[in-house]
Order: sequence, then C-alpha cells, then structure tokens
Amino acid sequence: MHADEHDSNRAGFSTRAIHHAHDPYAGAGALNPPLYLSSTYTFPTVADGSARFAGEQPGFVYSRVGNPTTALLEARLANLEGGEAALVTASGQGATTSLLWTLLSAGDEVIADKTLYGCTFAFLNHGLSRFGVRVRHVDLSDPDNLTAALTPATRVVLFETPANPNMRLVDIAAVADIARRHGAVTVVDNTYCTPYLQRPIEQGADFVLHSATKYLGGHGDLLAGAIVGPKETLDQVRFHGLKDMTGAVLSSQDAFLVLRGLKTLALRMDRHCASARAVAEYLAGHARVEVVHYPGLADFPQHALACRQMALPGGMIAFELKGGIDAGRRFMDALRLFTRAVSLGDAESLAQHPASMTHSTYTPEQRAEHLIGEGLVRLSVGLEDAGDLLDDLRQALAAA
Ligand code: PLP
Repeated sequence: MHADEHDSNRAGFSTRAIHHAHDPYAGAGALNPPLYLSSTYTFPTVADGSARFAGEQPGFVYSRVGNPTTALLEARLANLEGGEAALVTASGQGATTSLLWTLLSAGDEVIADKTLYGCTFAFLNHGLSRFGVRVRHVDLSDPDNLTAALTPATRVVLFETPANPNMRLVDIAAVADIARRHGAVTVVDNTYCTPYLQRPIEQGADFVLHSATKYLGGHGDLLAGAIVGPKETLDQVRFHGLKDMTGAVLSSQDAFLVLRGLKTLALRMDRHCASARAVAEYLAGHARVEVVHYPGLADFPQHALACRQMALPGGMIAFELKGGIDAGRRFMDALRLFTRAVSLGDAESLAQHPASMTHSTYTPEQRAEHLIGEGLVRLSVGLEDAGDLLDDLRQALAAA
C-alpha cells in the first residue's frame, strides 16, 4: 500500500503515526524513512538556488531551515495535531522561544496562565519582559478572568493544560473563543497530553507547542520540540524566529528517533494512562496522602472538563503528603523503582520535587502566588508493571 492511501484523515491515529507522508516503495524502497545527514543541499543552477531562497521553488537549501527527515516529522506532527503545518525545534524551550520571538514585538502583551513550566515562566518574566513585552499572569481556569484581563495590546494568550506541575486545567475552546474575538492568538502547550489525548487546534487554539523530549520521543534519549499551527505564520517562524533568532534547529538524527517514538505513541499513552489511574486511585485512598491532583479522579475539581477535553486523563500526577515537604522528601528518597529525576513521558517512572527542581525559577513567593505548593510531589508514571509501581509506592509511603 502506498503512503498516499494512508494520508486521509479517515485513517486511525496509529495508522497515521506510523505511515503518514512516507512512501516505503519510493527511492530505495526503505521501510523506514531515510535519515538525511547533510547540512547543505545542492542547486542544479544558480537560477534554481535563487528561486529556492526566494521561496518560489520547493526544495532544500540548508538544514537550519529544513531537512527531509525533519520535514517528514513536521508533516506527521501537523497531521496528528490536526494543524495546517508544523515546525520542529531542538527542544521544547526552542519551540516556545522561536514562536514567541516571532509573534511578539515591544509594546505587545502576553497573557499567560498562572501556572507554567519553570523555564517558560523564566523566558517570559526574565527574558521577553526585558525587551518591552508586557507579561501578565491570569488564572485561566476561569475563562471569564481572560475577558476581564484583555487589553488592546494583548497579542498572545498562552497556557498549558494540564498545567505543569499542579494539573490545573484550562477550557481550551472557551479561552480560544474569547481570545479570537479580541484579536489575540491562543498558544497551548500540549506536552502533557500529546495529540493522542487532546488536540487543541480542533478546539479552536491557533498554535500548539510540544516538548517532544517527553511522550512524543518517549524514551528519554533526546531533546526535541515542535510548533503546530497555520503555515503562513510557521513560515515566518522558520525563516525568522528559528533561522535568525534562536537557531534552535533539531538534528535529523533526533528527528528520526522522534519518528520512531511516534509509531508506538498510542500504545504507550494507553499504558501510561491506565497505570497512572491505578496509582492515583491508590494514593487517593492512602491515609498519609493529603491531596491527589489527577484529572481522572471523580473528585478532581475539573473532572467534567477533563472528560470533555481529554480522551484519557494522562500519565502525570501531582500530590501532597500529610507532613508537607519533609514527608515528601522522605517519601522520594525511599523510592526504589520510581527514579528520582526531572523530565517526564519516559518508559521509566519518575518522581521529582517541583519547588526545588523544575519550578525553582519561581521565588517561593511567586510559587505561592502561582499555585505551586512547596510540598507538591510530581510523578510521571512509566511503562513498568502497575503492580510493581504500587508496591514501590506502598513501601515508600510507609517510610515517609
Ligand atoms: N513545556 C513543558 C510543559 C515542559 O514540561 C517542558 C520541559 O519539561 C518544556 C516545555 C520544555 O521542553 P524541553 O525540556 O524539551 O526544552
């Protein structure tokens, strides 16, 4: 069967994740897409080269603006997210910065949710704000707060859902609708969900960001990022934000590994979600646990929104122990199978302490204001046997 027979959006998610935009009968007949290791590309004539530079002729020029292996990953991610185009980057941070450097100018304003991944928070508040961009944080878990906060200068509305690390959700359709009516663009960091669980563009968002380092790559062996959105703007990001401003270009080797990861994304996400649900339910019933934040629990405050917006509740959990940060430290140090490490979405289950690790870019006062508890423990539930994970939690909770 040839690639174009899979290209219709009628094919299922996994079929597209495995086949979209690669014809295994083309070229040498390689089942896997070739890995192109070339920084530069030839022009048959000067006229061809000039036409490619001017964007009037398709074809590659130099790998800082495009490479056939990264181009395939871009086509596949755009398809899976239901977006017009995609642009891959050297990291999730490279995706966020390349997009925002392109969209924003001095005098513009960003409205971001209260809770953001620590380095996104740092880029906005310690980076962009030094160049005349106004950054305001608003609790977007209530969309009415956005209506009240928008000003004529608001150009971008940015959020994560679920938010890293506290799992607060934002109603994508409601927020994107308010932003659009006001002339602002909505940017959703979809790292926690992947397009298998949530497709923000189908719900009205303009751009999706990813740290492909996480579930999309899936094996903790690379750094990568992606932006999905309208082709015209992504061309500006490619030829300006990425090429000239950040240079955060993804290597073709890492693009190849993300393409490999995508083939098993649906299988892995099903397993991550099933095990995370078992872990969340176990923690919620444990006498030493103060609170569990997991969208799949019936008493999660935004459970109804989770059911509407997410296909499954995801593989990430945040929780607090009775006894706060000291109990949390004893618990984490006692873990034997869960590994103490940042990042998420790997085969290995990971545990980390946001206040001293991923969210140490906030001051303690900012963490309080931005709803990030000092005692919060974040778990990325991996692909091990759920029974073994529960055994590890049981012994670590006893030690806490
Ligand atoms: N967005 C979220 C939600 C993240 O958790 C991370 C990293 O942890 C990033 C973006 C940044 O991605 P990367 O580490 O690939 O630069």
